Amino acid sequence: MTTAEPRGPAPPWALLAELTHACPLHCGYCSNPVRLIGRSAELSTAQWAEVFRQAGELGVVQTHLSGGEPLLRRDLPELVGAADTAGLHTQLVTSGLGLTERRLAGLVGAGLRAVQLSVQHAAPTAAERIAGARSFTAKERAARLIRAAGLPFGLNVVLHRGNLDAVEDLIALGVAWGADRIELANTQYHGWAARNRAALLPLPGQVERAREAVLHWRRRLDEPELVWVAPDLLTGTAKPCMGGWGRISLTVTPDGTVLPCPAAATLPGLDPPSVRDCQLGWIWRQSGAFNAYRGESWMREPCRGCALRTADFGGCRCQAYALTGDARNTDPACRHAPEHHLTPLRRTSAAAVPREAPREAPGKALRAAPRAAPVDVPTEASSEALAEEGGP
Ligand code: SF4
Ligand code: SF4
Repeated sequence: MTTAEPRGPAPPWALLAELTHACPLHCGYCSNPVRLIGRSAELSTAQWAEVFRQAGELGVVQTHLSGGEPLLRRDLPELVGAADTAGLHTQLVTSGLGLTERRLAGLVGAGLRAVQLSVQHAAPTAAERIAGARSFTAKERAARLIRAAGLPFGLNVVLHRGNLDAVEDLIALGVAWGADRIELANTQYHGWAARNRAALLPLPGQVERAREAVLHWRRRLDEPELVWVAPDLLTGTAKPCMGGWGRISLTVTPDGTVLPCPAAATLPGLDPPSVRDCQLGWIWRQSGAFNAYRGESWMREPCRGCALRTADFGGCRCQAYALTGDARNTDPACRHAPEHHLTPLRRTSAAAVPREAPREAPGKALRAAPRAAPVDVPTEASSEALAEEGGP
């Protein structure tokens, strides 16, 4: 009789490759960390190619090439080619700034399969106020180029107080731009978004009206696909964050740190490994960071005895830590959580939510690199300060 080897975790489905934290936009809702990784610390072309090779070997099916703004990597065609060679389906996640016909053709030639474009508002002035940079015309042009290239085209909107009332117009914009899919994602309060929470929290009634508008459009149109990512803090329902810790995806940050979710670097004691020191397969299967909240054994009550634990995995560890100080607690977004009263939307009465609150933005901390591909929207922020760092 032979003893069967204990089965390890199933392979991950997706790799979020954060190629750079540099970005020409300065969105206050950005979930990137408040301490952005500098350009000189980014993985090189060869190091990223090795990450993609190992990811393919591990069984990853698709990679989202993200940032910051991935177009700021001049070696993006090589990176797309390396991911494609490794057998990964590649999607570019971009603000659209810096996307030209020539660049897109080069990326498609290298194996790019899909593009997700972000937009901040349907009205140019409001969009550029939210993005902190002149950008609307560039996005409109990027949408035309993506459409003309025949690539699957997703439009992504992060929703908050500043644009929830424009959801109807945003859907109409996505239809006019020819999007195949429109993702309307209520803000998750990590990184810069957590810092700017007071300015981003919806006013009473905004989310309900926006949700109604989405349902209305869904009844009228079969296409494009409309995806509504609900605000967990408002619904009382925890989200299966990242589809469960160490279950379907992994994130590699610009400097090679590997995380079970993009915000997990905030968790104390996690000690995330790096692709500079360890193989991706070992990180996925055996590292302490990926096993810390995998499965159910770490759970406390009420999750431990709850029938929904295999559906939502107890919610978001980073939110549990941010709001309760202990990542093992039930996500306070859940109505059953002992700390549910700590969720900001429950603590903040309508009258107490300021209409205009000051906000800070990424890109004041890390600006585009001087040797990076030119972006056609020079901003005061991106023209200063880059003198100190050089990117790959
Ligand atoms: S600043 Fe805006 S465009 Fe840039 S990474 Fe953050 S959310 Fe994306
Ligand atoms: S108690 Fe835990 S498992 Fe149950 S619904 Fe809430 S977060 Fe999910």
